Amino acid sequence: MARISFYGGVGTVTGSKYLIEHDGKKVLVDCGLFQGFKELRERNWQPPPFEPESLDAVIITHAHIDHTGYLPRVVRLGYDKPIYTSKGTGDLLKILLPDSARLQEEEADFRNRHQLTTHTPALPLYDENDARDTLKLLHTVANDGVPVEVAPGIKASFLVAGHIMGASLVLLEIDGAGEDGGTLRFLFSGDLGHYDQPIVKDPAPPPACDYLMVESTYGNRLHGDVDSATQMARIINEAAERGGPVLIPAFAVGRTQEVLYLIRELEDDKRIPVLPVVVDSPMAAQATQVYNRWTDEHDEEYASILNTKRHPLRTGSMTTASSRDESKKINTMKGPRIIISASGMMTGGRVLHHAVRILPDENATVVFVGFQAAGTTGRRVQEGEREVKIMKQWVPVNCRVEKVEGFSAHADWKAVLRWLEGLPNRPKKVFTTHGEPEAAEAMAEHIRGRFGWDVMVPDYLETEVLS
Ligand SMILES: [Zn+2]
Repeated sequence: MARISFYGGVGTVTGSKYLIEHDGKKVLVDCGLFQGFKELRERNWQPPPFEPESLDAVIITHAHIDHTGYLPRVVRLGYDKPIYTSKGTGDLLKILLPDSARLQEEEADFRNRHQLTTHTPALPLYDENDARDTLKLLHTVANDGVPVEVAPGIKASFLVAGHIMGASLVLLEIDGAGEDGGTLRFLFSGDLGHYDQPIVKDPAPPPACDYLMVESTYGNRLHGDVDSATQMARIINEAAERGGPVLIPAFAVGRTQEVLYLIRELEDDKRIPVLPVVVDSPMAAQATQVYNRWTDEHDEEYASILNTKRHPLRTGSMTTASSRDESKKINTMKGPRIIISASGMMTGGRVLHHAVRILPDENATVVFVGFQAAGTTGRRVQEGEREVKIMKQWVPVNCRVEKVEGFSAHADWKAVLRWLEGLPNRPKKVFTTHGEPEAAEAMAEHIRGRFGWDVMVPDYLETEVLS
């Protein structure tokens, strides 16, 4: 008899971890970091509810830290078997995990310097060595649906999920766990992209399965018909007329590429003038290379632009700053220009150095292209606070503040239902995960209402028998 345990990504969108067990074999799907509220973050420090050494395999659906950021911790605690994921995800992890380790080390360092710790010295959750050890365990496969054996009697196949570069749906086939000793099929949606999202392909239709886990980030919300291109064109044109700079805080992996793609498209369509664009983030430049490398994952439009020898993620006048010196040079630039820099919620990173100059400038514009979590500097600016504290100094906010919607990389509930319509059979049970409690419940109701299927909203640490 097989079973699944929900060790994260339930009641929250963070910390995704699902353990499948059968016949003494254990496979963990996703290994994410808990983020947000303190109560959630403290779980990262508790002993994991499984023994890392006892796992036979780990499978990763996509590179985002809420699905992968706990991997180096599990490796630090003794896991040393393969980590299966797509080629695109593997490449992005080479950028993201060492960076995550540096952030963990910086945080421990900060606690020590400011004596904010009861443990002396405070240790990081993991360090760069752990991240490097993790990368050595990667076993990457194509997102092409060809099964690979991850443990004796357990196969996994990966298909395009359309969320970010490399994101996968994962189908597990467990021999001997199904009816009459047959094969049991469990499908994980991972994070699902929405249809017609730029750059990456649409999500592949779900293959037949007995059980299905589906994400519910937008289980109670719809994206609406906001046209991000029109909004962005207006903002850039107004800035060009005023001759002022535009600052776009954006996460280096995924969001930065989507913003570049849109600006390049607006330039090609002559809807905006060609302004200097500076991408000030070393990680963003590396991620852009990964985005170009895995051509199998590109949608038709992206592929057709690549065929014209034009770079879909390069605007007409673009520079990337990798070193600190290059980054500082941006400060001497004058006139209308667009600066894209991380972090996306202005919680750290180079964007803060730009914010100190740009926020007080009446001619400048700051544009938010992603969700701004409560308590972040980005949220404060977005909500109209006239003064924010950045790097220990109070900075007045005199610039224009804009928000461009329509950049979400998640399917809303209608898109999830559209995806589920492609399922060739009626599943025995569906689990809605990866949502705040109301969103997961709402998604479950939508699925019951439309298809009449048995849907369960699991709780943290709950285990369910599969047959
Ligand atoms: Zn994600």
